[in-house]
Amino acid sequence: MAFRDYRYERPDFDEVSKEWNLLLDGFRKAPTLDEQLLLMEEISTLVSRFQTMMTLVSIRHSVDTRDEFYSAEQDYADEITPKMMSLLTAFYDAMLKSPHREGLETKFGKQIFRLAEMQQRSFSDDIIEELQEENRLTSAYGKLIASAEIEFDGKTLTLAQIDPYTQSPDRTVRKAAVEAKFSFFAEHEEEFDRIYDALVQVRDKMAKKLGYKNFVELAYLRMNRSDYGAEEVAAYRKQVLDYLVPLHTKLRQRQADRLGIDSLKFHDEGFHFSNGNAKPQGDADWMIERTKTMYHELSPETAEFIDRMLEEETMDLLAKPGKESGGYCTYLPEYKIPFIFANFNGTSDDVDTLTHEVGHAFQSWCAGREVALTEYLFPTYEAAEIHSMSMEFFAWPWMDSFFGDQIEKYKFMHLSGSLLFIPYGVTVDHFQHFVYENPQATPAERKAKWRELEALYLPSRDYDGIEYLERGGFWMRQGHIFQSPFYYIDYTLAQVLALQFWVKDQVEHEHESAWADYLNLCKAGGSLPFLELVELGNLDNPFAEGSIAKITPAVETWLDQVDDKALN
Ligand code: ZN
Repeated sequence: MAFRDYRYERPDFDEVSKEWNLLLDGFRKAPTLDEQLLLMEEISTLVSRFQTMMTLVSIRHSVDTRDEFYSAEQDYADEITPKMMSLLTAFYDAMLKSPHREGLETKFGKQIFRLAEMQQRSFSDDIIEELQEENRLTSAYGKLIASAEIEFDGKTLTLAQIDPYTQSPDRTVRKAAVEAKFSFFAEHEEEFDRIYDALVQVRDKMAKKLGYKNFVELAYLRMNRSDYGAEEVAAYRKQVLDYLVPLHTKLRQRQADRLGIDSLKFHDEGFHFSNGNAKPQGDADWMIERTKTMYHELSPETAEFIDRMLEEETMDLLAKPGKESGGYCTYLPEYKIPFIFANFNGTSDDVDTLTHEVGHAFQSWCAGREVALTEYLFPTYEAAEIHSMSMEFFAWPWMDSFFGDQIEKYKFMHLSGSLLFIPYGVTVDHFQHFVYENPQATPAERKAKWRELEALYLPSRDYDGIEYLERGGFWMRQGHIFQSPFYYIDYTLAQVLALQFWVKDQVEHEHESAWADYLNLCKAGGSLPFLELVELGNLDNPFAEGSIAKITPAVETWLDQVDDKALN
């Protein structure tokens, strides 16, 4: 069956709730472990059905936010998802109190109980209204971003479609494109400020209702972080500051030298070679053909996976009007298949996005065939990003089929880009700690703080007088800050781990064992917490002092052996 034929039917919440409570009552009273296990299976089927419907809505809404039917269904989903959380929390409560807990733990492991406890500590019926408000606000942000229609080069462009111009070989075009892009944010600045401020206030209110000092602790619980906290993250940011920020500055200087310009401006940052960035040599269909070959050659598991994805057409890759920005992968439990969403725009980002999202998709595909609980389909985000970011590197041997004679440029951009990204990632994280520790800060104070943090972690950044950016407005384009608070450090943690896979695969030439470790990680899904997954993958703990210093020399050596000026 193809994705377009997957049938959506609005779940009748009262029906779901009735059925749920019946099962839950049975679960509570079940005299034996076996009976509880049977009831858990039925509850799990109900969850799968509900999640599949909600996911269908969110996919179809994000693909075309102007579609009125799915827009209304998304509003409905925003209303009932918190109510579903209430049902789920009641079930978790019963599970935690089960007289057969030991038997349940033997079957499912400890992780489901950790997740249940975190759910209990981060949810109560008292905050349903606030959660609904939060959903409305994050949907409003998504719609505002998707509404962008930027007049440029005689065309009307979305935010994704203007990006290629920010990589133009013509410096005046780059600057004009950056100005046009951010003029959309400047024009809607008050609206972005209003949405964000409302989000901060509603999140702070929820945290206080649940008895927390502020939203930070609640956010960590909502992210299901059970084996590290804000202190470890702060120490990790310090490692980035000490070891990666100097390297970041050095790489930006090298970029300026390569381009033959005195001082690199913000509008130059996306432009890496004076004869143009590495570009995929064909369109989306052409890339899909190569993707198919690549995954057929990589492993039998990836071959089976990619064939099913293509047969069922569970990918929507092209940028188009009304489509939400960014890229994501999600999973439809009833169909046991992932879905990939992207905004292709003809740059090398398309290839990275494809391999990245395929990493997520392949992981959920594997886990969907291994794990017993829907809770274990995806791991927590920092672990999930290991799969995606490492897949970008496992794809290297096939990249020449995408980039032809520009392959060296591509690899240089990809690897240096991985390092350049991390200081930006910790900026986003540090900023959010400030915002939620100081919920009363004004929009202007938030922007000033953003600018201060940019100066700390991205000292070479120079906005060249673009007023909106000089005032600290850049972060408004970063959807995670609005829609998934504190989800960002995850990318940087995973990047450090993905680089460990890159070293094993590309520097030490241990492909067999690296891929075996990767496959194990995929299959484990979310059945373990982050640091236990790191161990399972034979990777080093990124929080351990020295973890970053350990990874940088190999990357620097590789980058140093490239005669990048000759590629110009
Ligand atoms: Zn990802």
